[in-house]
Amino acid sequence: MKRVFSSHNTVLVHHSRNLLEAEGIATEVRNQMLSSAMGELPPAECQAEVWVVQDNDAARAMDILRRPPPAGPDWQCASCREMSAPQFTQCWKCGAYR
Ligand SMILES: [Zn+2]
Repeated sequence: MKRVFSSHNTVLVHHSRNLLEAEGIATEVRNQMLSSAMGELPPAECQAEVWVVQDNDAARAMDILRRPPPAGPDWQCASCREMSAPQFTQCWKCGAYR
């Protein structure tokens, strides 16, 4: 297990996980509950984290997360009408596929 991403923003954490899973990399999200306890714990310990299950996927995972987002306009979810950025294949709000 290796940590490849962490953020206070759980939406970003889940999007990062989706990007990796879409590339066939097995991941685990940790600490997502702790991030709601912000203010009670030191901030560095409240970040939600994405871990890769296989250590040898870590380098590729970080490459994927560093890729510049594809150019293009935001897209609108067909089921809930939320706007998502072009790099995401799933609606951040309801999880529907683009
Ligand atoms: Zn949606």
